Amino acid sequence: MEELSVDLVVIGSGPAGQKAAIQAAKLGKNVIVVEKLPDPGGNCLYTGTIPSKTLREAIIDVTRFNERSFYAFDYQLSDLTIPTLNSRLQKVIEAERNIKYRQLKKNNIRLILGTAEFIDPHTLVLIDAEERRTHQIQSKYFMIATGSNPRNPADVPFDREVILDSTTLLGILKVPKSMIVLGGGIIGSEYASFFAALGTEVTIIDKKEHILPMLDAEIGIQLQTALVDIGLQFFGRKEPKIICRKGNKASVTFKDGMTLEADALLYALGRTANVESLHLENAGIRVNERGYVTVNPLFQTVVPHIYAIGDVIGGASLASTSMEQGRLASLHAFGGDTHYFPNFYPVGIYTIPEISSCGYNEEQLQELGFHYEVGRAHYYEIARSHIAGSTVGLFKILFHAETLEILGVHIIGRNATEVIHIGLMAIGFRAKITYFIDQVFNYPTFAEGYRIAALNGYNKIKFKNGTY
Ligand SMILES: Cc1cc2nc3c(=O)[nH]c(=O)nc-3n(C[C@H](O)[C@H](O)[C@H](O)COP(=O)(O)OP(=O)(O)OC[C@H]3O[C@@H](n4cnc5c(N)ncnc54)[C@H](O)[C@@H]3O)c2cc1C
Repeated sequence: MEELSVDLVVIGSGPAGQKAAIQAAKLGKNVIVVEKLPDPGGNCLYTGTIPSKTLREAIIDVTRFNERSFYAFDYQLSDLTIPTLNSRLQKVIEAERNIKYRQLKKNNIRLILGTAEFIDPHTLVLIDAEERRTHQIQSKYFMIATGSNPRNPADVPFDREVILDSTTLLGILKVPKSMIVLGGGIIGSEYASFFAALGTEVTIIDKKEHILPMLDAEIGIQLQTALVDIGLQFFGRKEPKIICRKGNKASVTFKDGMTLEADALLYALGRTANVESLHLENAGIRVNERGYVTVNPLFQTVVPHIYAIGDVIGGASLASTSMEQGRLASLHAFGGDTHYFPNFYPVGIYTIPEISSCGYNEEQLQELGFHYEVGRAHYYEIARSHIAGSTVGLFKILFHAETLEILGVHIIGRNATEVIHIGLMAIGFRAKITYFIDQVFNYPTFAEGYRIAALNGYNKIKFKNGTY
């Protein structure tokens, strides 16, 4: 067994762990990353963000989704298989994996493969596939960045063929003719829309009344309408009672007595933090009632030299937020210039159509009693949308009716996850709605939606005040 001693051990090489390790190395620290998978990148690269977004892109391209309004194009569902759609993924994973290795090497970070297990608050051991202890590592600091996996309750007969979670869904061969998606959260809604775009008859079910209830309600309604237009069915206020396989079909009986059958079922009701192999009790750390590691706003656990970052702490659980948590945690541990995690960050939801938002939504502003105004630009008002064949969508900007400060930006439609960053900057710099009016925007662009929405909102105020 090799014995080592370093400044920082990062457990897990997903987005959180990578950024924590690189930041510490940039501060001149001696860093080891331990990873139980054969390569770095985390679930993000192999089962989460990257595979799902690559599949989405492939579906949009192969089915020529954005060209459907212009050209007659008839493709058969039977012509397509998931491996065909995923052939792109192998290239993407390879490219990303190479970058991860390059970054580790460039920053002199040692990667050691194995499953980490604490033996005391300053020491962990690595266990290999044959259950042998291969390394014992002492460190001044630790980052727990072990991520999460789909929640698989014992009474759901997952079988990797018909009854699936978001990981095993990637391994099926045929595009199912019909699919039940349990869970209208981000992962469920994204996959539901991908398969609906492919032509699968998708039914999505949630115990809440709407899918993605955290969205600004107007954006949520737009999404639900757009999804219905591509053939997706939604049932709210339903909870599954029995999930089973009947021959080649998945069958779900709901608490209200309704039964549904389909060729595939995606169970997307929550995720579980990866803590079971860590033996956190040996380090003096406990998890909360939901199974996540509890941290303070600086990402320290109850044991101050052990930090936890990314999905393992729950909350936002995005690759984007995980990366920044990792960077901030390392800055804090090693005395770099740091700050709290930002109050506002963009959330990207890659349904078809995609959604992105930042800042307050309208319901929150009402609850907080803000005097606000709304500017809207529908995608059909934007020249670029017509050119691109994507006229479904909305820019919604919320701003203070007196100070004119921008308070929230919500976009549904093509390129929403890209153009949101203009809104993010505007909120960050506390810009007024007039900022968008006083600038020239490239034409024709989707970003022009900001200007149209700003004019729409600002004109309402001007009319109310009788200035015009
Ligand atoms: C289907 C899907 C789609 C998603 N889409 C998006 C998206 O579009 N945008 C976005 O921002 N986020 C998205 N996410 C969320 C994103 O993938 C996660 O938030 C992100 O991966 C979390 O990063 P992490 O570093 O915390 O953990 P992970 O990426 O989960 O990595 C954790 C790593 O730790 C390793 N590990 C675990 N236990 C041990 C141990 N004991 N010893 C050694 N190593 C260990 C694991 O093997 C893994 O490699 C998506 C997630 C899913 C499931």
